[in-house]
Amino acid sequence: MALNLYVFHIFYKFKVLLLIMLCLMVLWATFSYFVDSGQSMPRPKNTVEDFRKATSLQEEGNSWKDEKTKLTAAVPATTSPQGHCPALSPYLRGASKLTFKPSLTLEEVQKENPQVARGRYHPTECSALQRVAILIPHRNRERHLLYLLEHLHPFLQRQQLDYGIYVIHQAGNTKFNRAKLLNVGYLEALKEENWDCFIFHDVDLVPENDFNIYMCDRQPKHLVVGRNSTGYRLRYQGYFGGVTALTREQFSKVNGFSNNYWGWGGEDDDLRIRVEMQKMRVVRPSADVARYTMIFHNRDHGNEENRERMKLLRQVSKMWKTDGLNSCSYKLLSVEHNPLYINITVDFSIQPKIS
Ligand code: BGC
Repeated sequence: MALNLYVFHIFYKFKVLLLIMLCLMVLWATFSYFVDSGQSMPRPKNTVEDFRKATSLQEEGNSWKDEKTKLTAAVPATTSPQGHCPALSPYLRGASKLTFKPSLTLEEVQKENPQVARGRYHPTECSALQRVAILIPHRNRERHLLYLLEHLHPFLQRQQLDYGIYVIHQAGNTKFNRAKLLNVGYLEALKEENWDCFIFHDVDLVPENDFNIYMCDRQPKHLVVGRNSTGYRLRYQGYFGGVTALTREQFSKVNGFSNNYWGWGGEDDDLRIRVEMQKMRVVRPSADVARYTMIFHNRDHGNEENRERMKLLRQVSKMWKTDGLNSCSYKLLSVEHNPLYINITVDFSIQPKIS
């Protein structure tokens, strides 16, 4: 009897244990199912946002190799399911030694860039993260333009950008007005494409490292930290000249550049003040990446130093709302779609007819 009772007790205990184990197994299976499905769920964010995060490069990272690591860590270098290009193009090469062949011709550059048509290119393997218009103000610098086109086209293609290059040419004999030409470039370029991002680019600056990405950021971006002619050092903390990148919205928010800077200097400082007045801040890539070669030249005739610039700079807060994109009047002489760039010619000495 006692033995029977003992066997029954053991059997009962065994059943309870079995039940507990079964419950635990069910619990474990349910838990692992949720963990697994949570991991495989796509994160609700888009590639452009990722890219922009990854290209806010001012804060840390001193070398382009750091830059590469940061970009790679942020987004995998594969094409996303939606067909967007990766944040880090697989074609980037890093720093390169630039050469400028004296005998170079436009035909040679054209031959090197068979996929560029009417000044535009877009990658075919994926859909570019941004549509970028490169605006280059120009007068009497054909040789510089040729070298810039030679280097910029393959550079932008390696970055997998959907881009167009606009050269805005100032005709006539009035003093050169870089800022107003850039306003014209912005207004005319938007007539043919809804560009996301604008790169305001001097004709004599050639980028040395293709990790200096020609896309816009969440803040206005200054792409020239250093150039060979100044020992690759930033000229001064507030320097915002040479090459800058602003989104369509950022540029329109500041009412573009002032139209009142005739001759050399000041217009870039004016734009920085406008940016800061709108509570935006300038970001820059790291110094190893944001390097340029400046093609040497003497100061052009018709682009003498603007001695009025300090006076103008003191008036930005009073002027910016009425002097800029909304007051940029010009006589458009022509828009030509050349194979490697779109050429816009304007004259500022002729007042346009009011229609
Ligand atoms: C001018 C800027 C120029 C800078 C660097 C400043 O004095 O106002 O327009 O970019 O010098 O050369």
